[in-house]
Amino acid sequence: MVSSKDSYHLFQRPDNLCRLCGLCCRVATTQYPSEKVVTMAEKGDQGAIDFLSAFEPYNSIDEARQVSAETVDNIIQRLKEDGNYKEDQITFYRCRYLDDNNLCTRYQDRYTLCRHFPASPWAIVPPGCGYEGWLFTKREDIKQKIRKVKEELLELQLLKSKTKSADILIKISAVEKKMLHSIELYKKYGSENW
Ligand code: SF4
Ligand code: SF4
Repeated sequence: MVSSKDSYHLFQRPDNLCRLCGLCCRVATTQYPSEKVVTMAEKGDQGAIDFLSAFEPYNSIDEARQVSAETVDNIIQRLKEDGNYKEDQITFYRCRYLDDNNLCTRYQDRYTLCRHFPASPWAIVPPGCGYEGWLFTKREDIKQKIRKVKEELLELQLLKSKTKSADILIKISAVEKKMLHSIELYKKYGSENW
C-alpha cells in the first residue's frame, strides 16, 4: 500500500536508476512480523497477498546473510536506527521469480509492489542500489522543507500570542494546524528532531 505522500514521490521517481543487481528481490523483509503479514493477506490486504505470493522466507537470518550479508546488515542497522528492530520478529525473504541470471521471470506481469519499489524516500534499499543517491536527495529536500515549516510555525505562534482579534485567531489556528500536520506526517522518520 502506497500512501498519498509516497505516491507523490513515486510519481517523481526516475525509472532509469535501477542497476538490475536483483538484491531487492533476493533479500527483502517487511515492516511487520511474518505472522501479521499472513493475517493481513487472509484479511484481503492486496499488498500482503502479493508479497506472500512472490516471496518465500529464508529459514534464518544467517541463511539470508549467506546471500548478501551486506544487505541483511544494512536492513538491521536501519531498523535499529529507527527503533523498529526486534530480532525475534524479523524474517528475510527471497523472491521465487528471480532466475539465476538475475532476471525477473514475470517482469511484464510483476507485482505493484515491485513496480513501485522504492516508493518512499525512506525505503531501505540494498547498499549500492542505484536509487541510493536519489533517495538521499529526496529525504534531504523533505527535511529542508520541514525545517522551513518549523521556522514559519514559530513566527506564526509569535503572531498568535500578540493577536487579539477572534477572527484572525481562527485563521491563524487553521494555518497552524496544517503546519503541525505537515510535521506530524514525517514523525515516524524523526521530523521532531530535524
Ligand atoms: S536493489 Fe536497487 S539497483 Fe538493485 S535491482 Fe533493486 S532497485 Fe534495482
Ligand atoms: S516478481 Fe520480479 S521484480 Fe518482483 S521481487 Fe520477484 S523477481 Fe523481483
